Amino acid sequence: MKKKSLIWVTGIVVAALVIWGWGLFRTVKDVVEAHPELTAESRDQVFPAPEHTVYQMNLKLDPVSHELWGYSLVSSTNTTNGDLDEIWLTTYPNAMREQAASPAPATAYYSGFDPGYLEISQAKVNNRPVVYSYQGISTRLQLDTPIYKNDVFTIEMEWKVKIPRASYRLGGKDGVILLGNFYPQLNVKDARGWHIPENIKFGDPFFSQVADYAVAIQIPEAYQLATSGEIVAIEAEDTGWQRILIRAGQVRDFALAAALHYQTVETYVNGIEVEGFFRGNDPEIDAGVLERTAAALKYYGAVYGSYSGSKFVVVQGPMQGFQGMEYSGMIFLSDEVFKPSFGEERRAFLVAHEVAHQWWYHMVGNDQLNEPWLDEGLASWSARQYLKRVELDVGNKSPGNSANLGKSLQEMGNKGHYYDVAYSGGEAFWAQLEEEQGEEKILAILRHYLAEFKHKTASTEDLRRIIEEECRSPLDSFFDFWF
Ligand SMILES: [Zn+2]
Repeated sequence: MKKKSLIWVTGIVVAALVIWGWGLFRTVKDVVEAHPELTAESRDQVFPAPEHTVYQMNLKLDPVSHELWGYSLVSSTNTTNGDLDEIWLTTYPNAMREQAASPAPATAYYSGFDPGYLEISQAKVNNRPVVYSYQGISTRLQLDTPIYKNDVFTIEMEWKVKIPRASYRLGGKDGVILLGNFYPQLNVKDARGWHIPENIKFGDPFFSQVADYAVAIQIPEAYQLATSGEIVAIEAEDTGWQRILIRAGQVRDFALAAALHYQTVETYVNGIEVEGFFRGNDPEIDAGVLERTAAALKYYGAVYGSYSGSKFVVVQGPMQGFQGMEYSGMIFLSDEVFKPSFGEERRAFLVAHEVAHQWWYHMVGNDQLNEPWLDEGLASWSARQYLKRVELDVGNKSPGNSANLGKSLQEMGNKGHYYDVAYSGGEAFWAQLEEEQGEEKILAILRHYLAEFKHKTASTEDLRRIIEEECRSPLDSFFDFWF
């Protein structure tokens, strides 16, 4: 390397470190400063509170050996109503440890069953080592010294994920690695206590709170990276690796994808950078997916309220068991979706459904284990509205398809029933409400729902209150029909 270019590289690295260091300093400072300002209202909120929680992660991904090494420093405040003597985290990769319990279908394992798991090698709370134990897809940290109410605390963890050789939302195949729900993430504690998600083979068994993220990841230089949030710097390393620095403010589920020989295409809408991260097999289909993503972001922004990020990424990847999966600022679409045989209208509906999840799941969160109809029903109803208003001449979903929407994933029992209740039933709920109250009223309800619960979590009860407020009447018989 020439001396002049060495100076340049050194300058860039120093600048990146300054930006990175400043970012970490700011986020930690924000958390610490926020502490004395806890109001009576925020003390009773759902833990972990979005405005008091920061995840800092240093990651190293080896896409060849399918290993990911992680160091997490999580800062938060005990905003629960009492002292904490334990902390629960979701460690979802452990869902894929045993073949019999894995949510990935057998066909996803292209070279025979290959386990996936997350192993913690060290955990500390406030600098003191703590005992940890795994329970299903959760991990419990046992605290010898309690964290008192309103106290700021830190959790440090060293961990490793074995990424399964599987076509799945957490998995990898042929140089493409999808990392959804890959890191230890704080479970929710509210008035009902800790929520401990179970490993359910279908649906999205997740319930998480929004937080700020500052992430550094080392990956081989030949790989491209797609991420929630924004890449703030890329540092080249002499060893054939690169270090990528990412910031993601107020996201619910942080996700990543890495790929060899991918094509990136991009467009802009309402100041949002929309990026396609595709194989590039069919440029016409790719362009259609990208344009439709941008059009859906624009439509939902206009009718419900603006999208909270400055970037949105659509990733094509090897996925079986799902055609699409939503994360914060990013969606994964399976390879199947990009085939001409998938069908134009089906592709349009799927893209519009996954994009709608940025409003109904990412911005307005819900307990996806116990009330999956909330985000799935709204994502499907929103997708059909988008198709009707922006694209195609499609009819309404026929209303009146009564289902008990108040079922948990556990109670639904299987994937078919899950689709009937959460997707079809959930969409039919909104279609019937629209038929009775008119579209304008529904949009007023949803604008209210977003404004009140943006970056928080809502329940069916919260939604019912808003619906009845906007309709200015109790709707007992309507709700009795659906629940
Ligand atoms: Zn969905």
